[in-house]
Amino acid sequence: MTLTELPIQYVDFAVYQQQWLQGEELTAQVNYWKQQLNNLSVLELPTDNPRKPIQTFRSATESVLISKEILDSLKDLSRKQSVTLFMSALAAFKILLHRYTSEDDIAIGSPIANRNWKEVEPLIGFFVNTLVLRTDVSGNPSFLELLQRVKEVAAGAFKHQDLPFAKLVEEVKPERSLSHNPLFGIMFQVQNEAYQLQNSLNPELEIPGLSLEQMWSDSGSTKFDMTWHLVERNEGLLTVVEYSTDLFNRDTIARMLGHFQVLLKGIIDNPNQRLSELEILTEIERQQLLIDWNKTYTEYPLQQGIHQLFEKQVEKTPDNIAVEFKSEKLTYQELNNKANQIAHYLRNQGVKPDMLVGICVERNPLMLIGLLGILKAGGAYVPIDAKLPSNRIGFMLGDSQVSILITQEKILSKLPNHSAETICLDSEWEKISKSSINNLPSQTIADNLAYVIYTSGSTGNPKGTLLTHRGLTNYITWATEAYNVAQGNGSPVQSSISFDATITSIFTPLIVGKTVTLVPEEQEIEALNSLLNTKSNSDSDFSLVKLTPAHLKVLSKLNNNNGVETLYITSPEYVASTKNRTRAFIIGGEALLENHLEFWRDNYPNTRLINEYGPTETVVGCCIYDASKKSVTTNSVPIGSAIANVEVYVLDKYLQPVPIGIPGELYVGGAGVARGYLNKPELTAEKFIPNPFSSSPSTLYKTGDKVRYLTSGNLEYLGRLDNQVKIRGFR
Ligand code: AMP
Ligand code: MG
Repeated sequence: MTLTELPIQYVDFAVYQQQWLQGEELTAQVNYWKQQLNNLSVLELPTDNPRKPIQTFRSATESVLISKEILDSLKDLSRKQSVTLFMSALAAFKILLHRYTSEDDIAIGSPIANRNWKEVEPLIGFFVNTLVLRTDVSGNPSFLELLQRVKEVAAGAFKHQDLPFAKLVEEVKPERSLSHNPLFGIMFQVQNEAYQLQNSLNPELEIPGLSLEQMWSDSGSTKFDMTWHLVERNEGLLTVVEYSTDLFNRDTIARMLGHFQVLLKGIIDNPNQRLSELEILTEIERQQLLIDWNKTYTEYPLQQGIHQLFEKQVEKTPDNIAVEFKSEKLTYQELNNKANQIAHYLRNQGVKPDMLVGICVERNPLMLIGLLGILKAGGAYVPIDAKLPSNRIGFMLGDSQVSILITQEKILSKLPNHSAETICLDSEWEKISKSSINNLPSQTIADNLAYVIYTSGSTGNPKGTLLTHRGLTNYITWATEAYNVAQGNGSPVQSSISFDATITSIFTPLIVGKTVTLVPEEQEIEALNSLLNTKSNSDSDFSLVKLTPAHLKVLSKLNNNNGVETLYITSPEYVASTKNRTRAFIIGGEALLENHLEFWRDNYPNTRLINEYGPTETVVGCCIYDASKKSVTTNSVPIGSAIANVEVYVLDKYLQPVPIGIPGELYVGGAGVARGYLNKPELTAEKFIPNPFSSSPSTLYKTGDKVRYLTSGNLEYLGRLDNQVKIRGFR
């Protein structure tokens, strides 16, 4: 059949093509595309809103005019490289997509005019076909290398442009879903002068006496996640992005347009730059992400250890209760005296700065006496929970090579073989108490070790993390202020001493004259629950309670038990009272979800709900978010922003900062960063890297956590980049 025999004037490309493309030619084209698109999955851009199961196709547009200088330079570069403007612009766009998604397999759709035959020329019709242009951008090539890859792919695609897209989908059989266009979600197109002439779209069309302007007509509807139309004009390169409003907010697209421009400038400046080297952020964004959002400097007494801050407090409030356990109470003076006695004793045994001292005691006042004693002596404590399996205790004792282990008589028999000298705080107390009760001159400086905590990582093997006094003092000073610990009555300790989260409740009360209430180990969460409730009858309540989301869930169940345990705290009197309450729940250790919080928001309106994020490697918490009031639409509660003297960076695999909204890995710098892992130089070098953004030498900890910045400057936690799992806050 010839074209003129076709019965209609308006010809649908697919219909026409089906009649033309048959036999061998059809097979050849099908085979090409099958091979080319083998195993292709749709590229997922990070979106502002979760993808709906069914697309609504609603869209909007955002545009920018890229300067004539850039357009001319890009055309110049294209000529020199024997490629079209389309190919250069597409290569740049693919770099942008790669930097946004961290994917190496980048496929987009592109419309092609498809008027390959003379016969078609006189016809009015919809001859546009869609080509899928897939490029492997792996290996961090230079722009020019990538451009050659794009050129090859485009050449191959143009040669096989006749297979209608619908037929191609039928043949390639990609996984279909109602929420995605098949094979690609992003369209990219460059309209040059020739294209416009052909389509009577020339924006520079001049009619005497009339001033004409081409307007972009926004159909309000799109099948794609986004479509980029680049239009070559006299005054520059008009770039219009039509995007799905289901998925994206306007400002995200505006930022993306900004990144495209920065990228083009970088390419023109030096097309030999590698993908990793090309800048995408504007000056303003760099300033905001790297500097403004990291302005956390706060003047703290970082030269003093926690034990010194405690001693100062003892002078101010010697008779306040420092620690409470069942019916036992110790005043600040009593606790200090006992801690000094063990500290003198330890110094006599040779304890000095950076020396590790194990502590394996039950949760009772000896724990605080021991911890403070070790710090006062100048040593670093290695907390070992007596309830841990004996092979784990054995591993920690062996790996840390502690020469002294502070413990209790009854624990001795449970300890596996070890070479440490043990000091029993109970049975040997008479001997210890012969030492002086006076404060010791402190021998530690900020860089000395304060404690070593063992964590498992994705590797499963526990490793000792070396934390300094600077980090501990910084966190405790900050937390005491931020959580208003001086306002309440201290905090209960119900979690394991081996878990760094416990540090918050152990030390914050002790530098402001408040009480550490030790929850008996046997009961933990139930005991905590009843403590919370009896406390609410007294004059003042806990300043803070430190929990994991898992604990919070159990607590809300206990408190929500059909009235059986309906408690004073949920009664109207309680709600009305601002005096009797737990002032803050500090929740950390795992991702916090909105629905963890509903019960508490409803029933504890006077209790602050704080999401605290932090790896052991940066001292307990390095980011916080106040979630007392519902403020986000997603189910995940943000982890917020950096605490005092801490800096956070969201970086891609090239250590380049990623824009707002784009997922990257969280790196943490500042006062809290650990010295590294004990006896693991290689792992230390891998996880603690030189800070590329700092003029003075400092390190960043590579957390392995996937996060992104929200426009508010808060971080959103998106999960792990490795397969590390947590159970009730334990790695
Ligand atoms: P750990 O060293 O035991 O404190 O574990 C640190 C890890 O726990 C982090 O790297 C996160 O993966 C996770 N994590 C801690 N706190 C939070 C939080 N508030 N939200 C989400 N994940 C958290
Ligand atoms: Mg933590």
